[in-house]
Amino acid sequence: MPEAPLPLDEPVRLGALRGLDILDTPSEGAYDDIVKLAAELCETPIALISLVDEHRQWFKAAHGLDAKETPRAFAFCAHAIHAPTEPLIVFNAEQDPRFSDNPLVTGEPNIRFYAGIPLVTKSDQQPIGTLCVISDEARELSDEQLKTLTVLANHAEKLLHLREATKQLMNQQFELQQQQHELARLGRLSLAGELVAEVSHEMGQPLYAISALSATLEVMNEQRGWEYGRTSVLIGRLQEACSHAGQILTRLRQFVRNVPPEFETCDVNEILGTTVEFLDFQCRRNEVDIQLNLASSPLKVHANSAHLQQVAVNLFINAFEAMGDVEPSERALRVTSRQEDESIVVEISDSGPGLKVSDEAAFTAFRTTKADGLGMGLSICSRIIENHSGSISASSRTGEGATFRIELPKAG
Ligand code: ADP
Repeated sequence: MPEAPLPLDEPVRLGALRGLDILDTPSEGAYDDIVKLAAELCETPIALISLVDEHRQWFKAAHGLDAKETPRAFAFCAHAIHAPTEPLIVFNAEQDPRFSDNPLVTGEPNIRFYAGIPLVTKSDQQPIGTLCVISDEARELSDEQLKTLTVLANHAEKLLHLREATKQLMNQQFELQQQQHELARLGRLSLAGELVAEVSHEMGQPLYAISALSATLEVMNEQRGWEYGRTSVLIGRLQEACSHAGQILTRLRQFVRNVPPEFETCDVNEILGTTVEFLDFQCRRNEVDIQLNLASSPLKVHANSAHLQQVAVNLFINAFEAMGDVEPSERALRVTSRQEDESIVVEISDSGPGLKVSDEAAFTAFRTTKADGLGMGLSICSRIIENHSGSISASSRTGEGATFRIELPKAG
């Protein structure tokens, strides 16, 4: 008995069949109805939807046959799939050299007549099986019956195409989910990266103050130069630096936990004054002359004062750093505050070389022109000011230093 040769692109064909995930699935009414109708209309005892797997043909639906599968070597359908666009019709298998000694002809179910219409997948155009009718009597199929069988095969094929489309959609959905997981993971990583950068940037200032103040206290201790007034100021500053560090960590914790910061009515002048006191040590060390030109009456805003102080600290320290190469006698930091219509405006100007990057770039995270910079300070400032429904911008002219302008809505 000559076995049907394997189709040329058999691996692709098998891939298309397996991709449907249909093999060994339970029977389904829609396929069962098709074989029942095929048997009735073609007047045969058996009708099958047969799928040709690697070593077997497996029946998605079978009418008049109990077997769920038979070896591929005996399958008439394995021959039928060689010409995917034509029906294979065997009028009398006993007299057909391809099938005369086939065990399905010489024994149960004693096939004589076979008519099979190949079923082809939509995307790969691969013949994966047939809708076939079988009889144990040699016979013919009328034109009408062949037409009906072809229409039913089209329906079976449509069901398979539907399954194919559903499968593809599920695969795409799965891929989309994977991509979403990956994006979420990258988002978390980038958030973690930003947080690490923010912690190391922001904690630098209070840690520097803590270490410098404690070093001064140590020197005073060694020289036994304790003076009540001076030590209590230094200890006060140490406590301020510790509390500033604590506030930074609280803000970060709240940011990660998505807790909105607590706002209250505060005076911008008071925040600026506290910042000047807080940075007194660094100011003297950097030999910077601070010129305060604050509005005479309180400038009330609805804000989180710790956050606004964080902004001021960042801008002051940037200015100190920018003026590093300027003659000490010319290092000046001008801080002005005023009310303009419904806004409170603060300007911080230095006598450094001015901005080397566009102001947009300066506020972008990780953009820095400093060898040991992180490029986080201004992006943190802009995020905080945005949370206060305000705006922050920078301007500079070469040789005339940089000016940072903050505008906040006046407390109602
Ligand atoms: P970093 O200080 O770590 O560089 P920032 O976000 O605070 O990060 O600043 C970003 C960049 O903006 C700085 O690298 C610098 O080029 C510029 N910049 C910020 N403040 C000033 C200033 N007062 N004068 C000149 N350039 C400044």
